[in-house]
Amino acid sequence: MEIDMATAIREISHYLAGGAQAPASRFSDVFDPNNGEVQARVGLGTPADLDKAVALAQAAQPAWAATNPQRRARVMFRFKELIEANMEELAHMLSAEHGKVIADSKGDIQRGLEVIEFACGIPHVLKGELTQGAGPGIDVYSMRQALGIVAGITPFNFPGMIPMWMFGMAIAVGNAFILKPSERDPSVPIRLAELMTEAGLPDGILQVVQGDKEMVDAILDHPEIKAVSFVGSSDIAHYVYQRGVAAGKRVQAMGGAKNHGIVMPDADMDQVVNDLCGAAFGSAGERCMALPVVVPVGQDTADRLREMLIPAIQALRVGISTDKEAHYGPVVTAAHKAKVENYIQMGVDEGAELVIDGRGFNLQGHEKGFFVGPTLFDKVTTTMRTYQEEIFGPVLQIVRAKDFEEALALPSQHQYGNGVAIFTRNGHAAREFAQRVNVGMVGINVPIPVPVAYHSFGGWKRSGFGDHNQYGMEGLRFWTKVKTVTQRWPDGGGTGESAFIIPTMS
Ligand code: NAD
Repeated sequence: MEIDMATAIREISHYLAGGAQAPASRFSDVFDPNNGEVQARVGLGTPADLDKAVALAQAAQPAWAATNPQRRARVMFRFKELIEANMEELAHMLSAEHGKVIADSKGDIQRGLEVIEFACGIPHVLKGELTQGAGPGIDVYSMRQALGIVAGITPFNFPGMIPMWMFGMAIAVGNAFILKPSERDPSVPIRLAELMTEAGLPDGILQVVQGDKEMVDAILDHPEIKAVSFVGSSDIAHYVYQRGVAAGKRVQAMGGAKNHGIVMPDADMDQVVNDLCGAAFGSAGERCMALPVVVPVGQDTADRLREMLIPAIQALRVGISTDKEAHYGPVVTAAHKAKVENYIQMGVDEGAELVIDGRGFNLQGHEKGFFVGPTLFDKVTTTMRTYQEEIFGPVLQIVRAKDFEEALALPSQHQYGNGVAIFTRNGHAAREFAQRVNVGMVGINVPIPVPVAYHSFGGWKRSGFGDHNQYGMEGLRFWTKVKTVTQRWPDGGGTGESAFIIPTMS
């Protein structure tokens, strides 16, 4: 990072092997969402910059892949320690560009770190399979080998966690990784790369290129990049998937979400209200695993829930990201604030009942910050655009269902299928729901069911394109290819005859 003395605005650039430079001619502003000011600008890279990164990766990757897995794991161990030692600095850096409160930024980094912890076990999980004696003198074994040079394209809302989901596994198995983070909060990804270098990762194995669509397209088209992992909104995820696959790459592309929370009449209502407040409004609703739709089952449940939600939502404290008492901070940009407020107006126009209106929220001393107050809609229906589309803001919508079957159908039929939760004390209903719902990640009395690092993360329908989930054994599968060896060591007495039929075990 350098200070541009002419404008006195911090300039954020790529992180290339050996400190290689690639000055930009196009820039994108990075805001401080707490006060609306431009705090830095990020240089948007070109295909030529990517070529430079790929060449540097090519020079480094074979030796990294040939490094024994225990040594690769040691880099991950040291990186884990460095993250822990730098947690405060990283969390403040993250909050300053994203706007989420500090404690939440620590959670963002911690959830990524848990994937690094899983990657520390790479010597064990990368072991292959062996069949001894598959035929006379014949053994068969399979191994997983790194793909070579791979890339990740990440969204603004988890600038710590999602890069670590990807590069933790990709690098541990022996790839060189090129990260293209969101241009809205690019500083934490750069810092993570610096810490990986400090942990002993050879130059060129983790590089960061900055950019927008031009850089994304260059990554998708580059013949030397073998796999691309993408996380972002669904239309772009679909585009990335199609273009990457057309270029012959392995692509996983995670998209947007509209997660539902089903509230059965027997649920613990106090707990439900607490869980909903955190899951709908935490991080200003800017989470793909937020819970922006609540589905109470039955009239009584709906009325009781609404009555309890109103004071709980009114008691939420919105503040700047360093306010220790704040439940959530500003949204990421003025454009995003306008988008969320437009959706609130759309909800009104569509005929939903606006119970609490978060528009026009003014935080004293931070009047230009990108704040949106907590918003509650009731009587939302499935034909409304505000129900069908992702708002990605602090807006909770009540959609009333008459019974379990109707509640089950709502998330199952929605275009998105990332996460869903059911709140109940009835084990049979919970089990039935988990089995039948057409959604990738299910919580039972768990509002944000992001799987732990040794399981894996992935949504269904328009929430995920391509094969393999993020991290865990799924991550290992995505970032490697399988090679299978069939070997015969005869005892010396060969038949000397040719075989013209396909070898079989008969
Ligand atoms: P986004 O789709 O705008 O951006 C994601 C990435 O794509 C960024 O790196 C961006 O630079 C790039 N990009 C933007 N426009 C592009 C274009 N036209 N062509 C090619 N690339 C482009 O997403 P965002 O606003 O940064 O993040 C929020 C979205 O991400 C939400 O929809 C959220 O649900 C989703 N998300 C999904 C998951 C998941 O795992 N399913 C996790 C986090 C966020």
